[in-house]
Amino acid sequence: MVKYIFVTGGVSSSLGKGIFAASLAKLLQGRGYSVTIQKFDPYLNVDPGTLNPYEHGECYVTEDGAETDLDLGHYERFLNVPTSQMNNVTTGRIYQTVINQEREGKYLGKTVQVIPHITDEIKRRMRLLSESGKYHIIITEIGGTVGDIESLPFVESVRQLVRELGPYNSLVCHLTLIPFLNSAKELKTKPTQHSVNQMMGYGLKPDLIICRTEHELGEELRNKLSLFCNVDRECVIQAIDKSSIYEVPLEMQKENLDTTVLRKLSLPNAGNSDMSAWEDFMLKLKNPKHEVHIALVGKYVELQDAYKSINESFIHAGAINNCKVIVHSIHSSEITDENVSELLGQMNGVLVAPGFGDRGIEGKITAIKFVRENNIPFFGICLGMQMAVIEYARNVLHYADAHSFEMNKKTTHPVIDMMEEQKTIKKKGGTMRLGAYNCILKEKSKSALAYKTTSISERHRHRYEFNNKYLDVFEKAGMEATGTNPDNGLVEIVEIPKHKYFVGVQFHPELKSTVLTPHPLFVSFIKACIEK
Ligand code: GLN
Repeated sequence: MVKYIFVTGGVSSSLGKGIFAASLAKLLQGRGYSVTIQKFDPYLNVDPGTLNPYEHGECYVTEDGAETDLDLGHYERFLNVPTSQMNNVTTGRIYQTVINQEREGKYLGKTVQVIPHITDEIKRRMRLLSESGKYHIIITEIGGTVGDIESLPFVESVRQLVRELGPYNSLVCHLTLIPFLNSAKELKTKPTQHSVNQMMGYGLKPDLIICRTEHELGEELRNKLSLFCNVDRECVIQAIDKSSIYEVPLEMQKENLDTTVLRKLSLPNAGNSDMSAWEDFMLKLKNPKHEVHIALVGKYVELQDAYKSINESFIHAGAINNCKVIVHSIHSSEITDENVSELLGQMNGVLVAPGFGDRGIEGKITAIKFVRENNIPFFGICLGMQMAVIEYARNVLHYADAHSFEMNKKTTHPVIDMMEEQKTIKKKGGTMRLGAYNCILKEKSKSALAYKTTSISERHRHRYEFNNKYLDVFEKAGMEATGTNPDNGLVEIVEIPKHKYFVGVQFHPELKSTVLTPHPLFVSFIKACIEK
């Protein structure tokens, strides 16, 4: 029988439910259990694919091409197991399913209501992943904060499901904030008490209280929380602020989170915990021998979460190279011919980020020209690769108005063009070229050396592509297509072999980097940056 763990949040948003869920899953995995995590988001968008990164941070793409919440990135980075379409469900998706069924006449004349029809659909989706038979434990993170009107149907569904599953088959972990009042020099438990009361009002009793705090809780406070929140003493778990999210699993282990959870679920302790690979990673992360400065050139730099996976990939690739990676976010629209040398001249490497639309792209092109001419390691991802192609077309091939069809429909040299299959698409949601596609690498290219193979598969999210009409001219002039799709010839990677490290990729390598398997291209890029 599959066991279910639900993770809810109280008091405040942004407490790190995703990191907690991933850390708990990691510990259970370390004890030999097969675990997956899914996230239920209470907003009405069918998926986050149409959301601006300013709204919701990065959009994470799964192998099977689902555009999902960035927490799925944490799940994969921690667990090293891919997620799928099924691991992220929004209110919009739930309502869409129910309304479609209503139109098909499936409800046989009944009044369609939030309870039971919406809650039934939520519960069906919550149990869906168990059908594969692959998992012992399914962790379900409920987005938002308990008490929000929009999370109510999810909390109610969890209440129903906990009853249906019966004793020892499910657990509710409630993550809350224990604020520190500076004036009183005291940690306060009242908001947590209120939040737990609110949950009890919905008929849902938290089994574990996970307390996000800046300071140690202390015995007295733990006892108080246990008493007022009606949980066992060992079920009060301290989640103290840490400088790195990767410290959280080991911190949670010190709190005996894994053993408590297993006991509550009546699951055997399955031998000793094996977190050795994780501990090795932490050791490297904390004791770097080198340091590199990398400019991340993008247009959403004000928001930490917008380039989440890229930043995490730098951490993974840094650790394996014994290197501390210091990322300097630079807004592309600030870069000009006059200041580019001052902004980028001292960097060990430059990454030009993915993106959409024309804001800030000339700054990206200026940055790329500078690093190309000055032999500074360059890594371009998706739009970053496309801009590298445009830069080369303009400044080396002298196509003065070379551009991407996305930004300029009138260019005489559309070196980046809309993909054929995209031309008839009208709807925006879920219609890009999404998910994993194969790619064949040119032998001895920088990419092939990095991957140590010539056959790879990477995840995508784009509508435009390198215009193959120009391939010959580019290759003769020194920019080569070193990775192509074997089925349709689409250019997946461009490189300048003469340059120290100049690699642009149409796909998103950052989506596949995990703690235990850092992405080969990030690893080779950091290596090149160290050498610079
Ligand atoms: N806007 C570009 C395209 O659609 C690049 C997308 C991206 O960077 N993810 O092709």
